[in-house]
Amino acid sequence: MKIPVNRLTESPASFSFQGDAAWWHSALATESGLPGERAEAVRLFCQAQRIGDDIGLEGGVDGVVELECGRCLARYRHRFSEEFRFVLEPAGNRVPADPEGAAALSRDGLCLGDELEAGWFQGSEIDLGSIFVELVSLALPVKPLCREDCPGLCAGCGANLAVAGCGCGEIKSDSPFAVLAGIRGDLVRGDD
Ligand SMILES: [Zn+2]
Ligand SMILES: [Zn+2]
Repeated sequence: MKIPVNRLTESPASFSFQGDAAWWHSALATESGLPGERAEAVRLFCQAQRIGDDIGLEGGVDGVVELECGRCLARYRHRFSEEFRFVLEPAGNRVPADPEGAAALSRDGLCLGDELEAGWFQGSEIDLGSIFVELVSLALPVKPLCREDCPGLCAGCGANLAVAGCGCGEIKSDSPFAVLAGIRGDLVRGDD
């Protein structure tokens, strides 16, 4: 995920990388919130150009992961994408005040502000690896849903309402829940 800064010109150059299984596992080491496996290779891409002394970068990530729906608990394939655009200025002799930024600048050759919009670079190449990992984690939903209007599971019988209805409206006598309902009915009647 390295961009050779010293070879950039004012006309944008394109870079793309495949986030394969090995990449995903290394990403997991820094972002433990990611799902354990990705379903397809993640595409990481970027266009870079010189803007005077600065460097303009724009690109993004897209891929498919397998997630568990927060309502019906079904596993489903979730396509995600996230884009970025930022401008880096030469760090010169400056060192970021925050230790994390300072570490990133010496390790990756760049550091970004909180908004991921602007930052500094140093050296002859920059490594976008950790920025891509952060983007993937930003792109994933906090509450995964197999579909926007997933009805989830029936509170009564646990049936997956996204797949089919359930008999809770009209309890069948051969269902174990009918027995429970009967017992509950007896208790209620016993209280009378
Ligand atoms: Zn669902
Ligand atoms: Zn039900």
